[in-house]
Amino acid sequence: MHKPTVETAALREHILTYARTRMGYDVPPLDRPQSLEWLTAHAGQTITEDGLGGMRALGVFADVLAPATISTDHPGYLSFIPTAPTEASTLFDLVVSASSIYGGSWLEGSGAVYAENQVLSWLASEVGLPDTAGGLFVQGGTLGNLSALVAARHTARLKRETDGLPMPARWKFVCSAEAHSSLKAAAAVMDVDIVKARVDSEGRLHGSAVEEALETAGDGVFAIVATAGTTNFGIVDDLDGVGEVAKRHGYWYHIDGAYGLAGILAPSTRELFAGSERADSFIVDPHKWLFAPFDACALVYRNPELARAAHTQHGEYLDTLTQRDEWNPSDYAYNLTRRVRGLPLWFSLATHGTRAYSEAVEANIQLAHRIAAEIRRRPHLSLVREPVLSVVVFEREGWTADDYERWSAKLLDEQVAFVVPSSHGGRPNTRFAIVNPETSYELLIQILDSME
Ligand SMILES: *Cc1c(COP(=O)(O)O)cnc(C)c1O
Repeated sequence: MHKPTVETAALREHILTYARTRMGYDVPPLDRPQSLEWLTAHAGQTITEDGLGGMRALGVFADVLAPATISTDHPGYLSFIPTAPTEASTLFDLVVSASSIYGGSWLEGSGAVYAENQVLSWLASEVGLPDTAGGLFVQGGTLGNLSALVAARHTARLKRETDGLPMPARWKFVCSAEAHSSLKAAAAVMDVDIVKARVDSEGRLHGSAVEEALETAGDGVFAIVATAGTTNFGIVDDLDGVGEVAKRHGYWYHIDGAYGLAGILAPSTRELFAGSERADSFIVDPHKWLFAPFDACALVYRNPELARAAHTQHGEYLDTLTQRDEWNPSDYAYNLTRRVRGLPLWFSLATHGTRAYSEAVEANIQLAHRIAAEIRRRPHLSLVREPVLSVVVFEREGWTADDYERWSAKLLDEQVAFVVPSSHGGRPNTRFAIVNPETSYELLIQILDSME
């Protein structure tokens, strides 16, 4: 709470040593969750009137709390969507923490905002948006989707006002049944309806299905949402076909690419994303498949002015910021104070160059195909779907949900891997989500062997 003393200088060294050790592991400890009772018994009451002192508090963290968290960057963490930050990005996250940069406004954060914006421009150009596109990094894809949809509805409202048309009884947007749960959450917060469009046998949304959905949707549609890489299977919707329909009807076209849009960087999957250039907005999470630490979602708009009109907060103490003709990241999403969470990715990209990113994403995809071929060869295993990006979903013949549970618990117990059960169409299965360049073919084989 004051300037450094001898004691805080020593603590600083201990903390940096802890961070250095954590970053220095070839393979970090996988670790495991603990019960509330266990944590209460081992960590006890840590908030006290006099304070524990930094060394004791660090000890509680290092010895009790940290081992009770799973390392999502462990190469055997293959559940949900893992994270695999480059060392450069993790190191720079420390610098961001040490720098107290306010990332909401150009006035306060111009240098950092400039760097973040270069990353966003690079992403926008990969997707095919014009130079005038722009946005910001928000906390996660959930907030990114919400912010884009709020901008879309605001734009639709303004258009009705300008055209002198009445407002609809209900606003609504179209997406597929395979779309992410965050869209449902956004609809609930915005109090709007979702019109679900059917998918084909591969789980993809096409323009024709959007047309059908629009025929029954009635008045009030303000956006069409396509998914570029579903979380469960990595399915990429027909971005061109869906975008064409959105454009023809004059609806905002949003692409949710939180996990999968990174696949646009890989030569072998790039063409799956044809049509992404039609987007009015898109998101992609660097903490998923762009090798950056938690938590960051890149949110980009074709026409950022429309988002600014929807999101800028006004207040007497803020007017000096918002009345300037400068790029204030806070004005483009549902947020005000913000960490410059795009800087770890910026530093890593500036360090390694974009080619290293293309190669790393491609390597994950190739590994997914290699292990899928092995699954096909094994008599007791079968693919639920052919992998598209880097997610491989498969079944073990004869296993019930309980069998998967027991097997998964054993893998974690033995600290080999974290692979949780999943299901599709009521059938239990499991999946490998591969985003970590350190995940080896040999480890995946070891996991398959454990299912014999
Ligand atoms: C993960 C994910 C989200 C949500 O992103 P968070 O960063 O977890 O909030 C949204 N859409 C898709 C397709 C995702 O995979």
